[in-house]
Amino acid sequence: MPRRVVECPSPNFDSRGPNTPIDILLLHYTGMETGAGALARLCDAEAKVSAHYTVDEDGTIYAHVPEAARAWHAGASWWAGERNVNARSIGIEIVNPGHEFGYRSFPDAQIAAVIDLALDIFERHPIPPERVLGHSDVAPARKMDPGELFPWGTLAFGGVGLWPQTRKARLEVPFEEGLRAFGYGLRPDMDVPAETVIEAFQRHWRPAGIDGVADTECESILAALLTHLDTR
Ligand SMILES: [Zn+2]
Repeated sequence: MPRRVVECPSPNFDSRGPNTPIDILLLHYTGMETGAGALARLCDAEAKVSAHYTVDEDGTIYAHVPEAARAWHAGASWWAGERNVNARSIGIEIVNPGHEFGYRSFPDAQIAAVIDLALDIFERHPIPPERVLGHSDVAPARKMDPGELFPWGTLAFGGVGLWPQTRKARLEVPFEEGLRAFGYGLRPDMDVPAETVIEAFQRHWRPAGIDGVADTECESILAALLTHLDTR
């Protein structure tokens, strides 16, 4: 399917700052009743929010902000020691009403377009697979997007991000320590309960059960993710 990219410029961006690497791909859902409403907001100077791209349900890609500039999508966030997630990420909004307005599955055409766009971005920016993340990963206390219906496994199969297949890896460290090692913002100074961070972990990596309790399956998934980090 040919890529359809529509220019839809947003005034909501600024400079990434000097020598800032672009090494996170951050995925969102729009969380608004309609795609048109989301596009209008992302391009409204008053709203002060944006992303680099929005992918509509039919696979159309809207380009809002040049990749060299910092778009405003992550808000207060943290990943692997970095507070300024916007500065080093590319942000993609994916049209879906979200948990507030009727969360629903993501159409195949939309996911195919997200994969295609991400692979194109990787040509310009070598983003490691373990840094393809959801908004909820970097802001677990505030955000649930793109949510438990997002097909991370399909993305990984298409070459975008990770999806550990093994359920046999053994976690060698306490679960919370492993979460921190992978990048999650589970630190005393951040005042986010461990349960909330574990829920964010599950929403991404074990969406069939989101209860904030790290069971043996969660442990082996995290172990597999950490193994991946070690072998880079
Ligand atoms: Zn978001």
